[in-house]
Amino acid sequence: MKWRPIITVGLICAAVAGVAIWVIHARVAGHWLQVHTGTVNEPGPYYGFWSGFGSDLTEFAIIGTIATAVYQLVKKYNCHYPGCWRVGNHPAAGGQFSLCYHHHPDYQGKKPTFELIQRLHKEHLERQATMLGKLHEVHQHLTDKSAAANDGSGLGAPAAQAARSGNTQADPGTLDGTGDPA
Ligand SMILES: [Zn+2]
Repeated sequence: MKWRPIITVGLICAAVAGVAIWVIHARVAGHWLQVHTGTVNEPGPYYGFWSGFGSDLTEFAIIGTIATAVYQLVKKYNCHYPGCWRVGNHPAAGGQFSLCYHHHPDYQGKKPTFELIQRLHKEHLERQATMLGKLHEVHQHLTDKSAAANDGSGLGAPAAQAARSGNTQADPGTLDGTGDPA
């Protein structure tokens, strides 16, 4: 059982209820409103309404607000697996799904063990390192290409050809344009 989301939901509900009460009380301003809401002149014509059915309106509003908030939170936090009511806070497929440990493909229906956490963390780091390495490679490739293109522009065709043929040692800053691979 995950307690943190449940505590969060409880706190949010309390906050929503507080705001609802505050809004309802803040609206009680001005004499007309005070009479019509039964705040002053208590035995006035609205007394029966406000002490009867009207006294429940606030509760309806609060209950409605809380119900909506709870519904939204349940929709947000519950596992995306159809019919699953567990809290799903494990992202899968790059965050497309929030799944509970039971339905997350990495955990194979079990709570993540220490070994699994260690293994997945290591795999994640390795993947990132690979990706960074690939990115660096691509960047290097593009840099070389643009350097070669710069070398070729405004110079003789042989120099450009020498640069394009993978002569990465060619200094892009040299202006003699010999393009000698040596
Ligand atoms: Zn689930």
